[in-house]
Amino acid sequence: MNESLRELRERLAEIHDLRSAGGLLGWDQQTMMPERAAPLRAEALGTLGRLAHERFTDDAIGSLLSSLEGEEERLRAADPESDDAALIRVTRIDWEKSRRVPDELVAEMVRAGAHGHQAWVEARERSDFAHFLPYLARNVELRQRYVACFEGFDDPYDVLLDDYEPGMKTAEVAALFAELRGELVPLIAAVAEHADRVDNAILHGDFAPARQREVVQRVLSKLGWRADGWRLDEAAHPFAASFGPTDVRLTTRYEPDYVGMSLYGSIHEFGHGLYESQIAPELARTPLGEGVSLAVHESQSRLWENIVGRGRPFTRYLHGQLAEVFPERFGAVAPEDFYRAVNRVAPSLIRVEADEATYALHIILRFELEQAMIAGTLDLADLPEAWNARMKEYLGVDVPDDAHGVLQDVHWAGGDIGYFSTYALGNLIGAQLWERARADLPDLDAALEQGDGTQLREWLGTNLHRHGRKFTPRETVERITGAPIAVAPFVRYLRGKLTPLYGLD
Ligand code: ZN
Repeated sequence: MNESLRELRERLAEIHDLRSAGGLLGWDQQTMMPERAAPLRAEALGTLGRLAHERFTDDAIGSLLSSLEGEEERLRAADPESDDAALIRVTRIDWEKSRRVPDELVAEMVRAGAHGHQAWVEARERSDFAHFLPYLARNVELRQRYVACFEGFDDPYDVLLDDYEPGMKTAEVAALFAELRGELVPLIAAVAEHADRVDNAILHGDFAPARQREVVQRVLSKLGWRADGWRLDEAAHPFAASFGPTDVRLTTRYEPDYVGMSLYGSIHEFGHGLYESQIAPELARTPLGEGVSLAVHESQSRLWENIVGRGRPFTRYLHGQLAEVFPERFGAVAPEDFYRAVNRVAPSLIRVEADEATYALHIILRFELEQAMIAGTLDLADLPEAWNARMKEYLGVDVPDDAHGVLQDVHWAGGDIGYFSTYALGNLIGAQLWERARADLPDLDAALEQGDGTQLREWLGTNLHRHGRKFTPRETVERITGAPIAVAPFVRYLRGKLTPLYGLD
């Protein structure tokens, strides 16, 4: 192997290990850590983060990348899909990006995010937007300074979006969302007129957490969770973490009076974990060994949670498991009634509780407001009013107070601006992948009715997961679906489900 390439790989592996150690401390913080350890843990996380950042932005990485320019071309000429050529390309993009932002600005953004988070917790508790406003203003100002570190973009928001969805442009997202909004607003208004046709009361009641755990463990094991490479733990805010294909950590939350949280939350996180677990082992400990973008990652969690998990075949299996573990509750419930309950659609105030149909409208609202914040065309003091007006227009919902409105999400408090759109883009990509998978796998429904995720899992592994970050997000989606991100498959999927369920025409 080329000597510079060997050295680059060695350095990148070391940086990966530092980041993994930090990630593992973060996982521990949310699952196992005793409360009093928090200040010490913050120091340790800060140190590891700084070390990884210093090592990555080092001049030596830049020199290695310069000396590898010819090698990259040679590798790609010999094999257009060369792992090493992709590694050099992706590392160069990451390195150049990280070098543009001064360390002081990075540190300031982290500090402002921590203060913003604290102020947001207090403001949300008291539903007091005015208390949060100066912290939000500070976060926005720092993001504008961050944007100013870059050049050659069409829209300032492009710079922020690129951190979550590399290569995606604001104008593209805006066009997709305008089309999606045009489809969803009338569809959801029609559903709301027939709201009484579907209710989900059977999912609420008395569900002992230990028995919920039994159901979750059974379901995940059938889908592909394995004891020798995965863990499942509890966390207040469930997430998935991974430190390589053979170390995947899922978390969930057991709500004693609602079985839907642990069940569908776990399937969602399984989708994230599966993606990471099926990345080609040879990409491990390199920048290629992770999901290609947040939208593609979210397409995986939502594909399993919603399209599979709430689909008619798989709900038959889920219903059977619930009837075994909670016979007093589900023994007398028909599978069709369970299917209806888990597919209830209703406009609501809170994004994280929203169903798969209304969810995207919560996102579109945030995307539009973020653009205005960064462009400086919206006075931040007017944000609650702008929020509430859009909630009424898109979802027909009246916002009673800011705690249930503009203060509900953690993202802006920590300075994460540009993130939200990836959730809704994930819904779109998930539906595109699903259409292709169904065309390729004629027996898929029969397998899912038995709870068996093998076919879909292997299909995703071969077509998507194994590549990690080897191709751009756009190339990754187009290679599989033959098209860029599109709205029509998701709308087809939703209409196909909701039209019979709600008796629409
Ligand atoms: Zn997710």
